[in-house]
Amino acid sequence: MRRYVIAGNWKMNKTPAAAKALIEEMKPLVAGKDNCDVVLCVPAIDIPAAIEATAGSNIKIGAENVHFKASGAYTGEISAEMLTEAGVEYVVIGHSERRQYFAETDQTVNLRTLAALNAGLKAIVCVGETLEQRELGYTETLLKFQTKMALTNVTAEQMKNVIIAYEPVWAIGTGVTATADQADEGNGYVRAAVAEMFGAEIAEATVVQYGGSMNEKNAAELLSKPNVDGGLIGGASLVAAKFAAIVDAAQ
Ligand code: PEP
Repeated sequence: MRRYVIAGNWKMNKTPAAAKALIEEMKPLVAGKDNCDVVLCVPAIDIPAAIEATAGSNIKIGAENVHFKASGAYTGEISAEMLTEAGVEYVVIGHSERRQYFAETDQTVNLRTLAALNAGLKAIVCVGETLEQRELGYTETLLKFQTKMALTNVTAEQMKNVIIAYEPVWAIGTGVTATADQADEGNGYVRAAVAEMFGAEIAEATVVQYGGSMNEKNAAELLSKPNVDGGLIGGASLVAAKFAAIVDAAQ
């Protein structure tokens, strides 16, 4: 019923020329891999080059952030309409790096999610606990709270455009991956929160990704878990062969 979504998150890497080169390298490696949606979320400046380079391929382009207002005095921000007009289909919202370094809160994550969905974008909403929160035993409480806050005022109809990425903060960019069981458990808490808000049917249909040092070696085991419907991949999405191997693992 659910389809894998394998999404790269390039973070602040790759110039437009380098983005084009990496996409040209990836395209033949992921072509015809139709058992999953393949998405690359790229820096805003790379979007035109990425859209052009992926035309006619099975790679979809996402942004890494979106503002919640339609327009106005928000220097440095990008609106949902700007993204859709540029050809963007997905957007990452509430990544832990945004929460940590750019004062993103559960409330702004919610507002950005609503703006994205109202514009017809697919929202990849990130949730995840810190190591301290895990050690204190708050993982379930935290994941359910973040999920519910992010999805406040989202309609049942809009849930088909929501992807939630469970990304334990302690596993992002650290090389430390959650075990497949930890990933499955975290994704299960997220799905339970969706069920509490929208009912079992919508929860069963919602794509919940795992993210946190997913790579070509551990992807198959992580993706074999019942609650893991794909991956949000940072470091390994910057290397064509590694990203393609993760797409392969989803076949
Ligand atoms: C991410 O940026 O969302 C991420 C999971 O990064 P990495 O795969 O490098 O841990």
